[in-house]
Amino acid sequence: MYTVMIYKCEDCGKDELIINSRIGVTPFAVNCTLCDGTMYHVHWDKDCETESIEIDDDDRVFVGMTIDVFKKIVVERVNIFWYSAIYQMSNDYKTKKEAIESLMKEYDPETPNIISGKEYKENYVDKIL
Ligand SMILES: [Zn+2]
Repeated sequence: MYTVMIYKCEDCGKDELIINSRIGVTPFAVNCTLCDGTMYHVHWDKDCETESIEIDDDDRVFVGMTIDVFKKIVVERVNIFWYSAIYQMSNDYKTKKEAIESLMKEYDPETPNIISGKEYKENYVDKIL
């Protein structure tokens, strides 16, 4: 089951159809690939459910967060905030390893992640020979 949703950029006005490949929540806002502004899910009543869909390489697709992707985000976050003036993470944890282990407890496979259609077809669709 796929759901196709309309997102609209509040900065440049671009409309984009984004595909949800799973049952589950999707973010209210995503970044705009055209101007790097913020796109919002609009016309909720026009969300369209379909059993099968043709996905182009440059479409964007919501998938569940894999643990590898989540760990990459966690490690990046720890590196950014370790000595940050905004929130110095090194005050709360003895080591980066301890911080990473603690944040990894928040992993939830239902958390949405957005990837390209190309990536989706390469990694999520069963290969038909
Ligand atoms: Zn935009």
